[in-house]
Amino acid sequence: MLQIFYPHMYVPSVTEIDAKELQAIGIRNLLLDLDNTIVRRDREQFPPAVEQWLLALRQSDVNLCIVSNNGSGRVHRLADQLQVPCVVRAVKPLRRAFRLGMQRLDAVVANTAVVGDQIFTDILGGNLMGLFTILVVPMPGGEFLGTRLINRQLEKIILGRVTSLVSHSDKQYHLGKPRRFK
Ligand SMILES: [Mg+2]
Repeated sequence: MLQIFYPHMYVPSVTEIDAKELQAIGIRNLLLDLDNTIVRRDREQFPPAVEQWLLALRQSDVNLCIVSNNGSGRVHRLADQLQVPCVVRAVKPLRRAFRLGMQRLDAVVANTAVVGDQIFTDILGGNLMGLFTILVVPMPGGEFLGTRLINRQLEKIILGRVTSLVSHSDKQYHLGKPRRFK
């Protein structure tokens, strides 16, 4: 039952996600969460390591779309910096925004992954869609009070289990074999 909340991979940073590894399991498109996944919520600049990672992905022909619950102009400004499309006010985990993101990339469920730092929005929504899901450890930075008080507390229960299934020390980030929820 709790499996619907489990990601397929759990990485300490997006920069650990390797384009070749994605392509080996058929992933050609990434729907990327913004805040505290690829940029700190309190910053307007991507960390240099993340910028390099994003560039490497695009050079490997992995298509990117930002899907953010945030509705401010900030999302557009940051997406424009990367020259990638974005879906704002996504209301994740509702599926509509993921569908929109996939439309922008001409993607299908079988070749698309969701990347995000929150189980109850990014991972749950991606799993409900049957997408491959990748959870990242949140970047340090401010969070909405609601996220901190409610989601993060509930996440601790799931994370305890997820953490026991991966090893960050030897970079074994898959929770068992790559699998999908249908
Ligand atoms: Mg986030």
